[in-house]
Amino acid sequence: MSTPHPVILVVNAGSSSVKVSVYTVPEAAHENADINPVLSANGQIEGIGVAPRLRASMADGHVVADESFPVSQVSDHDAAFRLVRLVLSIGLRDNPPVAVGHRVVHGGSDFSQAVCIDDDVIARLEALIPLAPLHQPHNLTAIRAVRKAAPDLLQVACFDTAFHAGHDMLAQLMALPYSYYERGIRRYGFHGLSYEYIARRLTQVAPDLAEGRVIVAHLGNGASLCAMHGGRSVDSTMGLTALDGMPMGTRCGSIDPGVVLWLAQQGMTADAIQSMLYGESGLKGLSGVSSDMRALLTSDEPRARLAVDFYALRAAQEIGKLAVTLGGLDALVFTAGIGANSPAVRSRICAHLETLFGISLDAGANEENGQRISSNGSRVPVLVLPTDEEGIVALSTARIMRECGRR
Ligand code: ADP
Repeated sequence: MSTPHPVILVVNAGSSSVKVSVYTVPEAAHENADINPVLSANGQIEGIGVAPRLRASMADGHVVADESFPVSQVSDHDAAFRLVRLVLSIGLRDNPPVAVGHRVVHGGSDFSQAVCIDDDVIARLEALIPLAPLHQPHNLTAIRAVRKAAPDLLQVACFDTAFHAGHDMLAQLMALPYSYYERGIRRYGFHGLSYEYIARRLTQVAPDLAEGRVIVAHLGNGASLCAMHGGRSVDSTMGLTALDGMPMGTRCGSIDPGVVLWLAQQGMTADAIQSMLYGESGLKGLSGVSSDMRALLTSDEPRARLAVDFYALRAAQEIGKLAVTLGGLDALVFTAGIGANSPAVRSRICAHLETLFGISLDAGANEENGQRISSNGSRVPVLVLPTDEEGIVALSTARIMRECGRR
């Protein structure tokens, strides 16, 4: 009898939500990029501490739970995780998970690939909290919650920074006194799990392009762009923290560092500045309407339009910058919530790229979120590829298990 494929739980703990996905990973997926991890179920709690709502479904769409809870029952991430796990465990009795893979935002300079979690790893991840204050604490809470519930279960941390670990020094530097670089104050880059997935997916759908110079625009609530050559990251728009680069739902993106000095000189505390730059800026701050792109695109408020125009211009400017690093551009890929679903935003960004890059879109393909949305005459092909960060976490976790001889 053949051994069943390992079942991996993937945990993605955000600031107000915990998502848990159940994957099986075929052995062949490690050698063959055409074979993917298979999602069998997922569940999530949103609105932790505010208005908790649990939803869980099987991969075929069958809903197994959809329920709201009083805040007192799901007041923190620990409680949220226990609940999601409980619901998903119903389908896992015959084939329980052999490992848990966590999406962890910051691996700093210590971690250039996924790693088995032990006490030392936890201590190092704790030290990185100031560099990812909105995400890292929740990632650690989920890791501790799993430890408490199943102390012997193998846990693996998969980092959003790791895909960018091979960056040339020029891509890592900021023009501060050099001693800061030596202390780890560098441009790391984020959304690496998404970019790793897209690099893998490109080898499936357009192997010729995958070899070339590709810019991927990950446009979700968080947003960044990555320059890849031959499937490897060579530069990214994000820096030491996930604040840098283009504006996002609530984060400011690149601003003059003098603004931060000015705010501090006006008497704002570091915590207050942090809250504003991470939570009150970006599309939300500019529009005064919403951080949600769908709401802005349907709003009549002039400032909603201004925010979207600024967003599109900044994305295009960052594409220009990354194309300089790459020395040209062979393909542009859009992904994540906005990138994969918003024809309006894609066409506004691409309109800025027409003269310089000869990019033009096929209006019909763009409207339908088709896989190739550039026109036949476009000098650079433009693709839309939905991302799967959780699938990459499942794959990396299964790989680490093989390496540690746990399977
Ligand atoms: P996260 O970074 O939290 O994973 P997502 O990748 O899900 O976020 O992206 C969320 C963003 O995607 C929101 O701004 C949402 O409005 C936007 N979005 C989702 N679907 C559409 C759509 N059809 N048109 C425009 N924007 C969309």
